[in-house]
Order: sequence, then C-alpha cells, then structure tokens
Amino acid sequence: IGGKFGHRLKRAGYDYILVRGKADSPCYLHVSSEGCEIISATELWGKGTFETEEILRQKHPKAEVASIGPAGENLVTFANIMTDKSHMAGRGGAGAVMGSKNLKAVVAGGTFKINSVHDNFKELTRTFRNKVQNDPGVQNRHRIGTMMWVNMSNQAGFLPTRNYQSGVFESAEEISGEKMIEENTYAHRACYGCLIACGKANKFDEGKYAGLDVEGPEYETTALLGSNCGIQNLAAVAKASQLCDDLGIDTITSG
Ligand code: SF4
Repeated sequence: IGGKFGHRLKRAGYDYILVRGKADSPCYLHVSSEGCEIISATELWGKGTFETEEILRQKHPKAEVASIGPAGENLVTFANIMTDKSHMAGRGGAGAVMGSKNLKAVVAGGTFKINSVHDNFKELTRTFRNKVQNDPGVQNRHRIGTMMWVNMSNQAGFLPTRNYQSGVFESAEEISGEKMIEENTYAHRACYGCLIACGKANKFDEGKYAGLDVEGPEYETTALLGSNCGIQNLAAVAKASQLCDDLGIDTITSG
C-alpha cells in the first residue's frame, strides 16, 4: 500500500498485523510504541474514508490511518482499504475483510527508530538513487506519473475502450497525462521515502467540476473510468475517482 502507513507501522514497532475474529461492534485498532488498543468506532461507522481519516488524525496526530468506507462495511467484494486519501490496497476486496470484522480502521504510529540491516545501506542507497534519477523512464514517470500510459497504451492499441470493445480511444488526448500536467497539475507527490514522486496533485478550475482538488487519477483509473466508459472529460474521471476513494471501492472494477 502506498502513502506513509507502512513507515508509521514500522515506527510503532510492527512489520505486520494479524487480526483474528470479529468485534461485537464497530471498532478501530490503534497501534503504537506503547502497544495496541481496540477503540470503539461506532460514531465512525457509515462515514467515508476521507472524513474517517480526518477524525482519526485529529485524535492521533502523529499516526497514519488505513480505513474502510461504506463499501467495506457493506462487504462489497471490490472494497478497498484506503490511506492518505488517495492510496489504497485495492483489487482483492481487502476492505470487505475489515468490514466483516467490524474493523473500521487501523491507526499506526510510534517513536521506534528504524535501523538499517546492512552497514553500507546509505552508500548503496546513494548509488541506487543516482542510477534511478538518471533513468529516462523514471524521469518521465516523475514528470507525468502513471498517466503517461494513456497515450502510450492508446498508440500501442491496448487502452481499454468502451467496455473493451476497442484498444484505441479517439479522445485519448483529452484524458492524457500530458494534458493533465499542462492544465491541472500543481505539485508532485511521493509515498514515504520515494525519490520518484509519481503522484500528481491536480486542480480543475473550470466547468462542472470547478474547484475539484485531488491527487490523481492514476492511469488504471483513467483507463477504466474514462475511455472504458467512453468518457473524455478528465475532470469527470477525477471526480469519479474521488467518489470511489471516499466510498472505499476499487476504481478499476468500478469502471
Ligand atoms: S513510484 Fe514512488 S510515489 Fe509512485 S507509487 Fe511507487 S512508491 Fe509511490
């Protein structure tokens, strides 16, 4: 899962969490350097992932939140676990597993120091960083993000279009990464510690969705909610993506 959750979980002192059984009522799990506690989430049940994250971040300021939305609560088979508003454990219905346990969220954070496994880790990192940063493919991924694949897959003939009836979308340019960075992108975003920073913060100033401010959408979302639905309005795709993220459903399956 992207974002910062993995780092915060490690700082809390854990590599992974195994949740057994089901709570009698909605709850969330708070994991920190001091230990774990199960806290009532009755008031959070029914809320979207954005509001859930905001409320829990206020309660636990130094922690990260991984939560489910109404989709996970209602055991939708393509429900996601969401974190940092635009990062998700998607595709496999993991959100429904949390919902089946009455587990609304996991909140993790702590003060443990993360030590390097190898003595020369910093040196290796420097070498690796130089190689990565000088790679033209990586530079393109930083510049346009995964959205670089819209035009590329369209040119190669495999951009999902109108329920997979075609691999070529006549309006691909309208929903392309090149258009997005030209007209909407105002900042690059990165998961914790990543030097590529392929995430793009986008703002839409005109039309029906004027004022929309989102991270993404990514290529897969744009292909499935955009060209695969015959939609050529990038702002509409971004809005649909945001709605899916808040509800906690997978954007690819939704499209
Ligand atoms: S390339 Fe970096 S910023 Fe992009 S999804 Fe992967 S870890 Fe996150």
